[in-house]
Amino acid sequence: MDDFFHEGEIVAVLTAQPLDRTLDYRAPEGGAWLGAYVEVPLGPRRVLGVVWGRGAGDFDPAKVRPVTRVLDAAPMREELRAFLEKAGEYTLTPMPAMLRLATRAPGVGDPPKARRVYRRGEGLPDRETDARRRVLEVLDEMGGLALTQKELADAAGVTASVIKGLAKQGVVREEDAPRDTPYARLDPDWGGKALTGDQAAAAESLRAGVRDGTYGTTLLKGVTGSGKTEVYLEAVAECLRQGRQALVLLPEIALTSEFITRVEARFGARPAEWHHGVTSTERRRVWKMVATGGAELVVGARSALFLPFRNLGLVVVDEEHDTSYKQEDGVLYNARDMAVLRASLNDARVVLASATPSLESWANAEAGKYDRLTLTSRFGAAVMPEMRAIDMRGEDLPSNRWISPSLARAIGTRLEKGEQALIFLNRRGYAPVTICRACGHQIGCPQCDARMVEHRFLRRLMCHQCGESAPIPEACPSCEAEGKLAAVGPGVERMAEEAREAFPEARVAVLSSDLYGSARQLKAEIENIAAGGADLIIGTQLVAKGHNFPLLTLVGVIDADLGLQGSDLRAAERTFQLMRQVAGRAGRAEKRGTALMQTYQPEHPVIRAILSGDEEGFWRAEAEERRAAGVPPYGRMAGIILSHPDVQEVFDLGNALARNDAALRRVGAQVFGPAPAPVARVRGRHRVRLLVKAPKGVGLQRALAEWAGQFRLRGDMRMAIDIDPQSF
Ligand code: ADP
Ligand code: ZN
Repeated sequence: MDDFFHEGEIVAVLTAQPLDRTLDYRAPEGGAWLGAYVEVPLGPRRVLGVVWGRGAGDFDPAKVRPVTRVLDAAPMREELRAFLEKAGEYTLTPMPAMLRLATRAPGVGDPPKARRVYRRGEGLPDRETDARRRVLEVLDEMGGLALTQKELADAAGVTASVIKGLAKQGVVREEDAPRDTPYARLDPDWGGKALTGDQAAAAESLRAGVRDGTYGTTLLKGVTGSGKTEVYLEAVAECLRQGRQALVLLPEIALTSEFITRVEARFGARPAEWHHGVTSTERRRVWKMVATGGAELVVGARSALFLPFRNLGLVVVDEEHDTSYKQEDGVLYNARDMAVLRASLNDARVVLASATPSLESWANAEAGKYDRLTLTSRFGAAVMPEMRAIDMRGEDLPSNRWISPSLARAIGTRLEKGEQALIFLNRRGYAPVTICRACGHQIGCPQCDARMVEHRFLRRLMCHQCGESAPIPEACPSCEAEGKLAAVGPGVERMAEEAREAFPEARVAVLSSDLYGSARQLKAEIENIAAGGADLIIGTQLVAKGHNFPLLTLVGVIDADLGLQGSDLRAAERTFQLMRQVAGRAGRAEKRGTALMQTYQPEHPVIRAILSGDEEGFWRAEAEERRAAGVPPYGRMAGIILSHPDVQEVFDLGNALARNDAALRRVGAQVFGPAPAPVARVRGRHRVRLLVKAPKGVGLQRALAEWAGQFRLRGDMRMAIDIDPQSF
């Protein structure tokens, strides 16, 4: 047999070590299956690897070292191996880095080290101490997940005895580690809702696809609140009935717990969860159960695509247009595209759900590559909000104020009726710029080219690029003048201040990712808002995603033009999606909502499309522009980012690459740049970007690899290749 290697046969083992090839070993006693997870000696160490094929055997077999041991895990299946190879080819990522994505679960195959785990029990401790309180806080944040003693002690900064003490009182529950225990069975017929005509038709179409058992992708488009989730959960149900596994990807961890609750109501049990907020013990369990079939449904972040599913039948990508599906460091991949690749190798179905699909998916549906299902109306009595522009050129607004009189009046009316209003500004912090009124100096990040953003709530200046932070200084760092630093421009914290002044009676809630110490606190605030515990909500793009606030009837956008500045060809698409998503927050229950957009350019075609809601028209116009420019989805793009501490070195290499572009020209590709990258300096490294534009279907990857590989990277030079960059 080709996929079993007997003792002594030479096997090629792929490891996650930065080598450019597999290594040869001798199969151990008992042999090894193709795909087996193994431990192999490498120099003085032992490393994890996967049997990737037959070894070359081109040197003395007696000198080849044996595999140390075969790990106790199901061998990596052929579909996953093929996925890693194809995804690696597509993103031009070396195989070791691809393997790392698939073996990220800690200690794959190892027996559990901790045999006991801890989760929140009943009641309160007899005596409240700081240490005890921290333990309970950590457990509360875990939302029902268990931690090992070490994980819990580290996270809470306490000693083991504190945990033991709480366990004795029952405030913390001690249990056997949940190793290898399957997840509770999901019942596909547990809690399905009676679907409306449109929904039922869409659900039946998805179910038929799942039953078909072949690859296919469907774009499920429907306005916010139209029941897309209800519909794709029916596809999940069908997948479970077929005895296959399903994966639902969400763009944001903050949405997970709300979603899990819905899954539980639909299927009578909780699914497996996979994202970086999940403890390592639980991740090992997910990894194993996915491989054995003991997890039927996984809800997770993009990295869940690399789990070793035994029989994957369906992948749902919710909010498929969301930019956070693009991984921006390490391996640069777009989870939406990788979901399609993975599913095609697994004979699985893909559902891409969105109210505002990406232009890529829209074009694929137009071209007939994807099926399209559309839900046109909101569920129940809810209708799309009325959308209007507030022309800021006609508003009488003092400087350093951003809520126009028109918007303020509209908010006042809603608040009087006991309804909620949302003020949206996609900018975290208090003010985007801190300037010295004596010398004009603007405080910048010492590491990056970004400006430092004042976060008054945290009393710090922060860099949104690299995370650098510093206390807000008393004096100007340049001219040393005291008390002259001024905050310029609006951020959400400042909007909250203005809103509190304008509406002193209103209960104001601010939703911005950096204002909450933990996912748990954020979740609590979201629930509080949904239950009517706030009147006026000030939020960043965090509120645009998926949350359901039934009492919210008015959305006011402070700066609808914000995303349209700059030269990025995707700006129009992004702005359109974001504005439609935000507007969709208004009026989800019986009351019709209103969305007001403050703009200085109400005649701008994008703003007009947002207001009219003419999506088809917008996509068509946008598609025409992209087609004319030869850019995605009608052409291919790739970015090469070079970085080095020395700006001259990095430009020199960039220029050399730009001059030596024969490999690219051969396939009809053009190179632009080098130019400073969108983020030109990060953590002390200068970055330049070259953009490559190519026609479709020309074997761009191979040409890129040849071109980019012309010069050896010397010293501290780094190169990253970004296929399908987010901005161009
Ligand atoms: P979307 O995913 O398109 O935003 P959801 O599936 O979240 O829409 O539906 C919006 C709300 O309407 C949810 O609270 C959902 O439970 C409810 N809903 C949608 N369809 C139905 C239905 N057929 N019966 C009962 N409730 C429904
Ligand atoms: Zn910085």
